[in-house]
Amino acid sequence: MSNANRDVWVFVEQRDGRAAEVSFELLSKGRKLADQLGGSLKALLLGHELGEAVRQAFHYGSDEVLLVEHPELRDYRTLPYSRVVGGLIAKQQPRIVLFGATFIGRDLAPRVASFTRSGLTADCTDLQIGDADYLRREYKDLLLQVRPAFGGNIIATIITPEAPVQMATVREGVMELVPQATPRGETVTRIPYEPTASDNLVTVVERHREERRNKVKSAPIVVAGGYGMGSKKNFALLHQLAQLIGGEVAGTRAAVDAGFITPDRQVGQTGLTVRPKLYIACGISGAIQHRAGMQESTRIIAINSDADAPIFDVCHYGIVGDAAAVIPLLIDGYRERLR
Ligand SMILES: Cc1cc2nc3c(=O)[nH]c(=O)nc-3n(C[C@H](O)[C@H](O)[C@H](O)COP(=O)(O)OP(=O)(O)OC[C@H]3O[C@@H](n4cnc5c(N)ncnc54)[C@H](O)[C@@H]3O)c2cc1C
Repeated sequence: MSNANRDVWVFVEQRDGRAAEVSFELLSKGRKLADQLGGSLKALLLGHELGEAVRQAFHYGSDEVLLVEHPELRDYRTLPYSRVVGGLIAKQQPRIVLFGATFIGRDLAPRVASFTRSGLTADCTDLQIGDADYLRREYKDLLLQVRPAFGGNIIATIITPEAPVQMATVREGVMELVPQATPRGETVTRIPYEPTASDNLVTVVERHREERRNKVKSAPIVVAGGYGMGSKKNFALLHQLAQLIGGEVAGTRAAVDAGFITPDRQVGQTGLTVRPKLYIACGISGAIQHRAGMQESTRIIAINSDADAPIFDVCHYGIVGDAAAVIPLLIDGYRERLR
């Protein structure tokens, strides 16, 4: 790999000028990666009227903001965005570029990677800088892209040693938000937008936005149930507990498949990634695909009738017992405390 550039770029995605939370999470992670590499962290922002997003990009650790502002870039559109982002990356060759694994990031990142012939790993659950031996060659300071692979049966560390630019997408909620006490940088580099005829092959006629139907992602307490809850009736206990302690109810894929809970509340590799202060896992075995969505929770309480269930390997407090018997005791206990 012959890239002397040590900079880390984060594509900061925005809607109506408001940056997405995942972009701040990536800036927080990007800050650490840039410090390890000894490079700069640059936020790449495209849109219109982005003053607040620029300010926040500095708040989350950017040394510099690369700003492409134009009324025609107000809404994300594949063609102009991929042309501009691809062109900038091809020209400046940053070492690392991070995108949110959102609808926009999943559309944009592969196009940019293909155009710039960069390595790209989707849905990473961790990113680190490290050295690697590959085909009898030693590579220094590679981006180690960690993610579940083969249906979640292994955790793979993926490297793209021959690509000068290494790219990754990361889902919302996976990386920790780390605001800086004082903004790191203040340099805004404005890059002019020069439209081409092909940019407007697709135009936005109307936008309709569905609000998120639940608050599981942002809830400080999540009460989650698995197949071991046994029935929808027993699942009602989770709703009671959640209501009492101000939490949201979530579930495993097996619980969703059994009809105990709706799919929009599924936590895990193919569902939501959450990081609440408290995660109460009831009748959940702790399969790796579920853990991928909840293991970064600050505190985890697990209730399972099988003392050998893998969930006990990641929990802070474990209760071995029948969830349908233990949860009513918890409800009584909390009720007493909260009186
Ligand atoms: C590609 C792929 C993606 C996936 N994505 C996801 C995902 O996003 N989220 C997800 O959750 N899963 C996902 N899965 C499925 C995952 O592998 C597991 O099958 C699933 O998480 C198991 O759910 P569970 O723990 O509810 O059920 P089970 O594995 O059946 O576990 C039930 C647990 O309940 C316990 N139990 C039984 N009775 C009681 C009782 N009375 N009281 C207390 N405990 C009891 C049992 O001991 C057991 O540990 C995915 C799988 C694949 C292959």
